[in-house]
Amino acid sequence: MIDLSSKKALVTGSGRGIGREIALRLAQAGCDVAISDIDEQTAASTAQEIKALGRNSIAVAGDVSNSADVKSMFSAVVKEFSSLDILVNNAGITRDTLLLRMKDEDWDAVLNINLKSAFLCSREAVRPMMKARSGKIVNIASVVGLMGNAGQANYAASKAGMIGLTKTIAKEFAARSINVNAIAPGFIKTAMTDKLSDSDREKLSSAIPMQKLGSALDVSNAVLFLCSSLSDYITGQVLTVDGGLVM
Ligand code: NAP
Repeated sequence: MIDLSSKKALVTGSGRGIGREIALRLAQAGCDVAISDIDEQTAASTAQEIKALGRNSIAVAGDVSNSADVKSMFSAVVKEFSSLDILVNNAGITRDTLLLRMKDEDWDAVLNINLKSAFLCSREAVRPMMKARSGKIVNIASVVGLMGNAGQANYAASKAGMIGLTKTIAKEFAARSINVNAIAPGFIKTAMTDKLSDSDREKLSSAIPMQKLGSALDVSNAVLFLCSSLSDYITGQVLTVDGGLVM
């Protein structure tokens, strides 16, 4: 049983989707969780769900690719919680199209929201973690960052960049007992994959050795492990949660 009582976490992009599931999973393990999202309403609603579990929570709305927003988000969280033990960089978007059709704006938006955000948030998070001489940072990358995917040059580059960022921050802060790891989910059942036709979903599933899509719970269970003391001697690693797609 993983016990995170007295721990304080911030999860970006946790108003909905995988981020929301991660926030709830951490709260179920006893953690107080700050909910960061660009959408004020969904952030507030996840924060309410956390409070209903008996944990403290605040919603901090803002754009994680904007340096000023990130600074004010972290100062609100540290003011409320007094410390920060866990950061999960989860917020992410896609703007898929083939390279020849990809606009500069498609590239910039995806790189900023998926990768620059992880740099900005990690830079803030390590300050209280250094003081405490402990901390856990988990970056939600993607198998696409490991293997590429036609139509996702921007997304694949952002997720591969996130893996390089993970390893570098892990090296810089290992001596301070701050663990930095990435999770690379494969195809996860979300609102996005729900829109696929049955035949497309079957085609997708047949490419996966386990023959099925993963769930947000599968991803959040891996996050929980990497945020717990069970993973204290693991840093700079990429854990794929993909039913065996990449091996
Ligand atoms: P999602 O449902 O689209 O959720 C992403 C969340 O991030 C949303 O709440 C979104 O807010 C928020 N967000 C977007 N831009 C933001 C910004 N600039 N600042 C702050 N928050 C922002 O996505 P998901 O499927 O849960 O994916 C979560 C993470 O897992 C992403 O990093 C994604 O790349 C990764 N991943 C997903 C899959 C998959 O199959 N779903 C596979 C591999 C990796 P809004 O509600 O306003 O849009």
